[in-house]
This record gives sequence, structure tokens and C-alpha cells, in this order.
Amino acid sequence: MAFHCPQCKVMLATRRLKHCSTCGAALPAEWLLSEAELEALRQEDRKLEKRRKARQKQRERDAEARRHAGWGGVRGNTVWGVNRFLG
Ligand SMILES: [Zn+2]
Repeated sequence: MAFHCPQCKVMLATRRLKHCSTCGAALPAEWLLSEAELEALRQEDRKLEKRRKARQKQRERDAEARRHAGWGGVRGNTVWGVNRFLG
């Protein structure tokens, strides 16, 4: 179900807003989400953020692995370096 600002008729992408993001008009109270619904959305956001960060970390690890793989000529030093790095 789409929501449109009563003032400027712009379509609102989210019901989390208390005011229209385009014209700033106050939105009808019955559109607003309850605190429980907002909390559910916040938790969903946190989950997505966590997943996004995990993916980012994985990408960094992959890039790191590729860098090490590229050091083929100094493999002995690389292993020593990695062990040092891992503590
Ligand atoms: Zn508006």
C-alpha cells in the first residue's frame, strides 16, 4: 500500500517518518508505526548492517589472500609474515 503526503501528494517510501520528507507536512497519526513496529524495523536494520559488515570483512579477507597469493616468489617470508600477523 502506497502512502501519499496529504499536502504535496508525493509518494512516501517509508512510514517511519513523522513528517513528509519533501514538504515537511505532518503526517496523519494513523500512518505512523507503533513503537513495537519501529523497534522491529530497527532490529531488521541492525541485522542487515551486521550482514553488510560481514560481507565487507569477507571481501577484505579475499583481497588480503589475493595479495599474499601474489607474493609467490617470497612464499617462505609470506608464511612467516602471516604467522607473525596472527600472533
Ligand atoms: Zn509532502
